[in-house]
Amino acid sequence: MTARGVAILGSTGSIGTTALRVLERQRERFHVTALTAFSNAALLAEQAARFAPRYVGLVQNGVGEHPGWGKGTGCLIDAAVLDEADIVLNAVVGAAGLDATLAALERGKRVALANKESLVMGGSLVIDAARRGGGELVPVDSEHSAILQCIAGRPSTEVRRLVVTASGGPFRRWSRAQLENATLADALQHPTWRMGRKITVDSATLANKALEVIEAHFLFGLPYDRIEVVVHPQSVVHSFVEFVDGSVLAQLGVPSMELPVLYALTYPDRVTDTGVPPFDPVELSPLTFEKVRVQEFPALELGIQAGRAGGSAPAVFNAANEQAVAYFLGGAIRFGEIPRAIESALGRLGNAPSGTRDAILAADASARRHVQELFRC
Ligand code: NAD
Ligand code: MG
Repeated sequence: MTARGVAILGSTGSIGTTALRVLERQRERFHVTALTAFSNAALLAEQAARFAPRYVGLVQNGVGEHPGWGKGTGCLIDAAVLDEADIVLNAVVGAAGLDATLAALERGKRVALANKESLVMGGSLVIDAARRGGGELVPVDSEHSAILQCIAGRPSTEVRRLVVTASGGPFRRWSRAQLENATLADALQHPTWRMGRKITVDSATLANKALEVIEAHFLFGLPYDRIEVVVHPQSVVHSFVEFVDGSVLAQLGVPSMELPVLYALTYPDRVTDTGVPPFDPVELSPLTFEKVRVQEFPALELGIQAGRAGGSAPAVFNAANEQAVAYFLGGAIRFGEIPRAIESALGRLGNAPSGTRDAILAADASARRHVQELFRC
């Protein structure tokens, strides 16, 4: 068996380091061909020494520090299009991942997609790039991995409905008044997952679930009225698929991203692995489900409406959210201002053109500018 080459974009992050743990155990099947990171040169150097990839890239690579490494934003593309890379794991956070997703798909690669933002903002552009180049999008997001595992090759005409689960985040029971002034420390206390800071805040506002509904729409080709969200605080049922005959399948497992990362690499096959702790239904019980409190978490509906509106609206939603979350992480705005910033940007900019990469990036830039002006930061 020849080992398949894997390029990891964002190798120093939460998903990137999780993926390297998986790949360490799967050295016979996969070899790491490229690693990229934003600024953590020390960790990247350690990873490079351990996995000996052909290509290493650091976006903020100081001149002369690592002369053999690629630098600047172009290093993501360099890594994504390497001949030796059969699979590109895009684990970059945010809109910065778009060009690498497009480039890898155009080159006919499998993209193991953690970077949901690129699919949300690029939507049909990303799907078209895959079609044109013969590339393949396989989700890493646990909910979408669950859906893929349940659908198992059945056509979308046999699917009645997707029910995407949401943990509800740290503020599941908080009132609107409490949410308004929730602190950064509160928002970073996710009850079931340890993740990067941006997605952790997105999970607290439920903007993450809106991104995931849009992601599901593009991945599985279903209209928005056939994608629902239910709160499931234990994060054990990773999503449900209801079929046209009324039968419902779900995929379960303890909350660990190692399984969806591995599955995105081996799909549609399954391989022996020991990353996920044994499943004990008694230990994990009870499993409970609740309605989403949509009034308290307006970012969810705003994102789904942006998805329904189509065009550049999902890119505006995504960029306004990214800018507002960056401000919240920096202490410049309150938690309650995040959905208000998104609503304001969508109200002003929802209908910009979206047919090309440049149009999408222009919508992204306008939304960021709108939020900057809103808070005059
Ligand atoms: P993280 O912040 O821990 O890691 C992000 C990685 O991207 C780092 O390696 C960083 O160096 C790199 N990066 C950041 N900004 C960059 C830029 N401008 N250009 C190039 N590289 C950059 O984030 P994470 O939690 O690993 O999430 C990564 C992606 O995976 C996000 O899109 C997130 O929504 C998605 N995701 C994460 C989880 C999880 O459990 N962490 C689960 C599902 C989906
Ligand atoms: Mg998810």
